[in-house]
Amino acid sequence: MTHHVVLYKKLSGPLMQRLQAQAEVTLIDDPKSSNGLARLRDALPHADALLGASVKLDAELLDLAPKLKAVSSVSVGVDNYDIEYLTRRGILLTNTPDVLTETTADTGFALIMATARRVVELANMVRDGQWKQNIGPQHFGSDVHGKTLGIIGMGRIGEAVAQRGHFGFGMPVIYHSHSPKPAVEARFDARYRSLEDLLREADFVCLTVPLTAETEGLIGAEQFAQMRPETIFINIARGKVVDEQALIAALQNGQIRAAGLDVFEQEPVNPDSPLLQMDNVVATPHMGSATHETREAMARCAVDNLLAALAGERPKDLVNPAAWNG
Ligand code: NAP
Repeated sequence: MTHHVVLYKKLSGPLMQRLQAQAEVTLIDDPKSSNGLARLRDALPHADALLGASVKLDAELLDLAPKLKAVSSVSVGVDNYDIEYLTRRGILLTNTPDVLTETTADTGFALIMATARRVVELANMVRDGQWKQNIGPQHFGSDVHGKTLGIIGMGRIGEAVAQRGHFGFGMPVIYHSHSPKPAVEARFDARYRSLEDLLREADFVCLTVPLTAETEGLIGAEQFAQMRPETIFINIARGKVVDEQALIAALQNGQIRAAGLDVFEQEPVNPDSPLLQMDNVVATPHMGSATHETREAMARCAVDNLLAALAGERPKDLVNPAAWNG
């Protein structure tokens, strides 16, 4: 029996050919446009499996897909999916962990460097022809090496950020997670802290938690008040983990020094957001994993997971094992 796969993200030629050798494929390359969404709705009744990313697949939409057996997300974050609903229907959900860890940690460090050393602001000054004399203290940044790196969410990406900070920049590492991680402590001489203590002590607060019901709004006015005027805040997790209005207020009131943000409550971020008017904010377009190599590796991983699911095999990166009945 030929399976029907609905792609809502373009694949490279070789991956598309691999998929087409195993299944009938419908590609919807603009699922966020009204036309694309209408085409997705039309395709869902025939779909055995879906593959894509960055689209909220809620119950109302997936109710249109009675044959659905698997959803293969080209992302590690699974906040776009109603896992309980998928599990109830026995639909396998897979993601793409590991392959994007190092690249996303690189992005975190790019934001740490860019905010601390004011790279974007000063590069723009040069580009605008405003570099008229040797720069003075009003343009100085702050050191990265030797400063305390605070990581909230010591998972795969948190650990890769810790590795860069510890070995590359001689930074003392402190972290907060559900529980202490003895192996991480041994590798990076890292120390576990309560969230409150981490926010008080860290020079760089780096968010690497998933967005869940528990972490939504984890960092708000109360948490920014616990940081210091020297603190630099980095978010490479998800926008909704932070109360964005509270972040704006903390920056405006000088409660923190700067922010490096790859993710926002609403994406693409509103061009009128006060965050984009501030010189001490470096904002990037959710590009954590966005390199040619990593995006291809993620897509390959997603295709592997999807083909395994359609073949009746347990996919490597199964998010909801309760939906698997062997
Ligand atoms: P992971 O290995 O599952 O790590 C997440 C860590 O967060 C876990 O260690 C977990 O701690 C911790 N955590 C969860 N809830 C927490 C809470 N309430 N308080 C403190 N710690 C908590 O995931 P990952 O692969 O590192 O990815 C993390 C997230 O990064 C993804 O979910 C995604 O949203 C985001 N991401 C963003 C980009 C981007 O483009 N900017 C790219 C990739 C990923 P325990 O182990 O103690 O449970």
